[in-house]
Amino acid sequence: MKRISVMIARLYAPAPVLVAAGWGLSFAVEHARGLLGAQGAHLAGSLLALLGTALGVVWALLASWRLYLWLRGVEQGRCPCGGLLSQPRRKRHGQPYRKCLSCGQKLPLVAASLADSETGA
Ligand SMILES: [Zn+2]
Repeated sequence: MKRISVMIARLYAPAPVLVAAGWGLSFAVEHARGLLGAQGAHLAGSLLALLGTALGVVWALLASWRLYLWLRGVEQGRCPCGGLLSQPRRKRHGQPYRKCLSCGQKLPLVAASLADSETGA
């Protein structure tokens, strides 16, 4: 699998998971009629399915926006391999880092921000 395919798969993977989770929860709630009543279970199930679908669509739109910025070269930060970086993450007791969605390399945030401040000042 090419690196750009891996990057796109990692970028969009949460969207179908969100939709499937919404529909799965909807299915589970629809069968909990004893707790919510028939009308309440149907309403809650519909809302959960709608919420899951909406979150999945929003996630896919944001991923598309980040991909668009990356393709235009305006995305902040880029891995030495050219890949798109994840949102900042923090190790349990370590410094914050961003993970490359293409090669999986973890790049510390401190070095990038120091380099940016040196060039900006
Ligand atoms: Zn990389």
